[in-house]
Amino acid sequence: MGASAVAAGAVARWQGKEKSGKLRDYSNPQKFVQPKYASIRDMEAAIQEIRQATGDEDTISTDSEDLHRHGYSEWSSTNIDGLPVAVAYPKTTAEVSQIAKICYKYRVPIIPFSGGSSLEGNFSAPFGGVSVDFAFMDQILQLHQEDMDIVVQPSVSWMELNDELAKRQTGLFFPVDPGPSAKIGGMVGTNCSGTNAVRYGTMKDWVINLTVVLADGTVIKTKRRPRKTSAGYNLNSLFVGSEGTLGLVTEITLKLAVVPQEFSVAVVTFPSIRDAAAAAASVMRAGVQVAAMEIMDEVQMKVVNLSGSTAPRKWKELPTLFFKFSGTKAGVKENIAMVSAIAKAHRGGEFEFAKDAKEQKLLWSARKESLWSMLAMRKEGSEVWSTDVAVPFSRLADIIEISKKEMDDLGLFASVLGHIGDGNFHESILYDKTVPGEREKVEQCVKNMVARALEMEGTCTGEHGIGIGKKEALLMEVGIDTLGVMKSIKQALDPHWIMNPGKIMDVPI
Ligand SMILES: Cc1cc2nc3c(=O)[nH]c(=O)nc-3n(C[C@H](O)[C@H](O)[C@H](O)COP(=O)(O)OP(=O)(O)OC[C@H]3O[C@@H](n4cnc5c(N)ncnc54)[C@H](O)[C@@H]3O)c2cc1C
Repeated sequence: MGASAVAAGAVARWQGKEKSGKLRDYSNPQKFVQPKYASIRDMEAAIQEIRQATGDEDTISTDSEDLHRHGYSEWSSTNIDGLPVAVAYPKTTAEVSQIAKICYKYRVPIIPFSGGSSLEGNFSAPFGGVSVDFAFMDQILQLHQEDMDIVVQPSVSWMELNDELAKRQTGLFFPVDPGPSAKIGGMVGTNCSGTNAVRYGTMKDWVINLTVVLADGTVIKTKRRPRKTSAGYNLNSLFVGSEGTLGLVTEITLKLAVVPQEFSVAVVTFPSIRDAAAAAASVMRAGVQVAAMEIMDEVQMKVVNLSGSTAPRKWKELPTLFFKFSGTKAGVKENIAMVSAIAKAHRGGEFEFAKDAKEQKLLWSARKESLWSMLAMRKEGSEVWSTDVAVPFSRLADIIEISKKEMDDLGLFASVLGHIGDGNFHESILYDKTVPGEREKVEQCVKNMVARALEMEGTCTGEHGIGIGKKEALLMEVGIDTLGVMKSIKQALDPHWIMNPGKIMDVPI
């Protein structure tokens, strides 16, 4: 059977069109042996040993609220019943190494945790174990202003980092901008991006060097400090996006960018989502250097109005593109002229520009507040499922249109928003978990959307990662052989499968 026939069969099974049950990768049972995790008694012994080794009672907590916060997320589309049995709060790389060594000895799962804002159950604890929260490793260790790089600990938040760089008047900033509460360790974990990605790329493009504690406690550095190197395997690419399944990142050297001379923010509405998406694709093909280009559909604009999060401002409830322009004064002016002409050619309305920094913040706030606005719509019993896929950007209008129609036909309340310049869009779906069958309907729509993205040569996730929710989708996307390579890497670095088990791929059975 050819690879495409295998993929088609897998898609059909995954979508529930074939009744062969859950899609699971049973490849190579000899090579990948089922791990045996510590019993609850052994986990307790490990916790005790961690207390003794670090010499601090408070290094490890078993408080029930703490466990809940580290095993459950109201933002995540997928949650499971299990929780970690303890939360460790190391203060140094050496302590992280001690914790890993003890967990390795007892076969206790380790789940790294930074900002807790990931959306695919990425830090859930299906096998119990110890959540390692980096809250006390939140320092900027070195700033090399001349070299435009910085060394930070994993719990530095990207927003605080930018505040600090502004306060120190460096003229530099860190451009990767995911959820407001995200921290650098978790951002490495998911290879995140955000609204600035169309101009500045994703997390992988900003990491120079990582200090990583491996499953057995070994401490390694992936690189040194120059911006380029051809020395050996690119281990940065291995750890960035590995969702804590290969090691614990304890120090990160990041590139920094120069704060542009001039900024401008503008919004423009379109009569249909197809027009908006087509305008965005034309902007990309024209080679205009936008700093950000975001799309929100009419439902999302309505949700922002209803939530009042940008009051007193009210928005037109139409498909809308949000633009950020940055660069030199002349460059910004030229880019705005080009984008205005393209928008007009695609039936866009008048450009609305922010007059000053305060208005820039206000205009952009509708985009920044979008997920919170949707969450604010929840009534008792209802949940929001937020998911993302990415396709080559010429296919974006097609996938958004079909996916929106499917949701509407099923009577589901869903909004579309996305980083349209990267072909990456998100759907947020509101559903009532107490209504029988409603969650299943949503799940089916998400599966169909993913299958559609794959048919269009896209990916099941542009930035949220696989976590626990998209493992089957990953198998469909890359196939058994590529997943087999990933499993071999996992096994080589983590022979007992203790690092964040059950994420990205199933543990061997
Ligand atoms: C309102 C909102 C908006 C969002 N917008 C975006 C967006 O625009 N773009 C985007 O990409 N994402 C977005 N996200 C998702 C989220 O912000 C990102 O996934 C982010 O990268 C997660 O960072 P975190 O610090 O919260 O990580 P966590 O949730 O703590 O962890 C994420 C993953 O990384 C692992 N991990 C954490 N710390 C470490 C470490 N030190 N070493 C190794 N592994 C580690 C964890 O085990 C987990 O698998 C959004 C989320 C919210 C709530």
